[in-house]
Amino acid sequence: MKRGHVPVRTCKGCGARRPKGELRRFVLEKGVMVESRIFPGRAVYCCRQESCLERLLKNKKGLNRAFRYKVLTKQDRSIE
Ligand SMILES: [Zn+2]
Repeated sequence: MKRGHVPVRTCKGCGARRPKGELRRFVLEKGVMVESRIFPGRAVYCCRQESCLERLLKNKKGLNRAFRYKVLTKQDRSIE
């Protein structure tokens, strides 16, 4: 690994590439998307701006593909 290498991840909301530490990390817990820095497994990343998160949550198809799973968000669960 190169010296000073910073892991970069892509925001699923706007597509910007940023250092991992600047992004929020989301994982699936029992099929529901939750924000977690430590929960293992497939994760998606998103900028800290609300606008990016909103776009991320609206893009259900993109989320399902990213997680390879039919994703529920907290909004979905509250409707049940
Ligand atoms: Zn973004």
